[in-house]
Amino acid sequence: MIFDVITIFPEMLDSPLSEGLLKKAQERGLLQVRVHNLRDYAEEPHRKTDDYPFGGGGGMIMKLDPMARAIEDLRALPPPAHTLLLSPQGPPFTQDRARGLSREARVILVCGRYEGVDERVRERFVDEEISIGDYVLTGGELPSLVVMDATARMIPGVLGCARSAEEDSFSVPLLDYPQYTRPETFRGLSVPSVLLSGDHEAIRQWRRQETLRRTAERRPDLLRRAELTEEDKTWLEEQRLGGPSAAEE
Ligand code: SAM
Repeated sequence: MIFDVITIFPEMLDSPLSEGLLKKAQERGLLQVRVHNLRDYAEEPHRKTDDYPFGGGGGMIMKLDPMARAIEDLRALPPPAHTLLLSPQGPPFTQDRARGLSREARVILVCGRYEGVDERVRERFVDEEISIGDYVLTGGELPSLVVMDATARMIPGVLGCARSAEEDSFSVPLLDYPQYTRPETFRGLSVPSVLLSGDHEAIRQWRRQETLRRTAERRPDLLRRAELTEEDKTWLEEQRLGGPSAAEE
């Protein structure tokens, strides 16, 4: 999968892309990230990428013409690309959307700055907007890294162990169960004994119950969307954690 990122601060992406799984995925040819400097598409002599807002008001707006040229140039390349504008006004980015994007051959990520981009970019030059949350950042570079990181994990072969992606929080709308590693005891803090028991069925059951408990306590809204077995529902009722119907109330 290929990501083409359009930004005025290409170097902001360097370090996160050259560490850990994102680096390995690129080395193994599973992922390619190409970062494009928007200034290369701006007109001489000043190569300006921003200008004052029509109608007045504070702050600067990212200019339409360099963005349009950059997007059109990149779209003309093979393979076909899905173009995405990072924006706090877009629908929230989710695990489902990451999975969907991972099936695209190529995604162009457009990073805004300042007071945002000229509205005509949104209207004519992108396929979709995505927000990474209900807060405003100074630019689209960190959101683009978030989108690339979450999406890359979904590309087959990127994670060492495919099961871990399936069991992550939000893979199904439930939170992940708690995990422990050595030592067994540290300053009086012990690992739940069932995890040391070697009893696979007991461990499976404990993990499922902890997943349900966490989700009920922390994110009851997710339980409403989860596919629960009869065993799950009975356990939730026994624990008085409420099932999906309680979360709806
Ligand atoms: N004035 C804009 C508004 O209120 O919608 C905010 C502009 S923000 C300061 C500058 C750029 O940062 C945006 O164009 C976008 O690319 C990026 N950005 C900021 N917060 C974001 C978020 N939560 N999700 C995705 N992108 C974001």
